Amino acid sequence: MSCNYDVLCLDCEDTAGVSYERRPGAIRALIRHAVAIGALAPLTAEEDTVGLSVSAPGPGGSVDIGWFAAHQDHRLVVVDEYGRIEGLCGEHAGPAHERCRLLPGHSGPHRGDGLRQPPGAG
Ligand SMILES: [Zn+2]
Ligand SMILES: [Zn+2]
Repeated sequence: MSCNYDVLCLDCEDTAGVSYERRPGAIRALIRHAVAIGALAPLTAEEDTVGLSVSAPGPGGSVDIGWFAAHQDHRLVVVDEYGRIEGLCGEHAGPAHERCRLLPGHSGPHRGDGLRQPPGAG
């Protein structure tokens, strides 16, 4: 069964649009190197390099450098096409097909917005 994976920013509820099929490890690698990828953004923003495409050869598709630059220091996680988030509970939580954002095995009810609370906000 095929399944596509993408990078999700928990802070912005935005995905990178990478869509690697059956390769969550590739998404984990992108997240590990997110700072380095985003650091290329100033290169592609220079007047002389407008339209320049920086890519790594391979079948997995392209990566939006600007997206990674915009989400530096944000919480990036692996998400599949069904909205399941790697390393989090992921059970249905509330309306709108929201998925639980608490850690696996947590106590209490599932909470879709669990990780969006700033630390110490109760
Ligand atoms: Zn973000
Ligand atoms: Zn849960």
